[in-house]
Amino acid sequence: MARKPLIAGNWKMNLNHLEAIALVQKVAFALPEKYFDKVEVAVLPPFTDLRSVQTLIDGDKLSLGYGAQDVSEHDSGAYTGDVSAPMLAKLGCGYVVVGHSERREYHAETDDVVNRKVRATLNHDMTPILCVGESLEVREAGDHVEHCTTQLINGLKDLTPEQVRRTVVAYEPVWAIGTGKVATAADAQEVCDRAVRRALADEYGTEVSDDVRILYGGSVKSSNIGEIVGQNDVDGALVGGASLNGDEFAKLSAMA
Ligand code: PEP
Repeated sequence: MARKPLIAGNWKMNLNHLEAIALVQKVAFALPEKYFDKVEVAVLPPFTDLRSVQTLIDGDKLSLGYGAQDVSEHDSGAYTGDVSAPMLAKLGCGYVVVGHSERREYHAETDDVVNRKVRATLNHDMTPILCVGESLEVREAGDHVEHCTTQLINGLKDLTPEQVRRTVVAYEPVWAIGTGKVATAADAQEVCDRAVRRALADEYGTEVSDDVRILYGGSVKSSNIGEIVGQNDVDGALVGGASLNGDEFAKLSAMA
């Protein structure tokens, strides 16, 4: 099965409500409808914008996908402030980012928590975008491949091969997120191939690993996306800062 590229825009905790709506419209209308046959493009707004984004996308029958930046590992209960997978599924979310380095760092999310969130997402028929990536310290010690493989295998624990096939993996070196420092295309390919694709093949076989989409994330913009998605094992990008500008996000999406 050919892997359909995915470009996903992680807005993080940015934009007010009107700006969010304007951005969705700009991105959706900047890309020709036919383009979505070839590439999936999705926005990942804060929870508070999801209902409006859903209304806009459904109302105008837009081909743009959307999803959330995090999810609770629990389906319901006394978890003040959390948002569950059934709630997100009801809002029509197609994707959920799980294990972003900012969640791992600021909310102390361990691989076990990440794994439970991946399972909650899949159990409600949404696609997890499982993030893995090393700090600068780990990279400088030369341990980045092993580090990312460990995060990957732990994050996928107890999934069926079919669930693994449906999961998207995002390689996001922590030192490249929001810093303007981009990994070279060769760096991105090395980890996407050695730490992710080959590790998946060893664990689940090539029939599964060949179908899994692997994204690169870390200061991606229109000036560097071409080279990055030109790599054999990079099937798209998870984009932070550059996804907040509609023209830029549409431009880089059109280059995937
Ligand atoms: C991200 O946070 O997922 C990300 C890749 O951010 P940026 O593109 O701003 O580096």
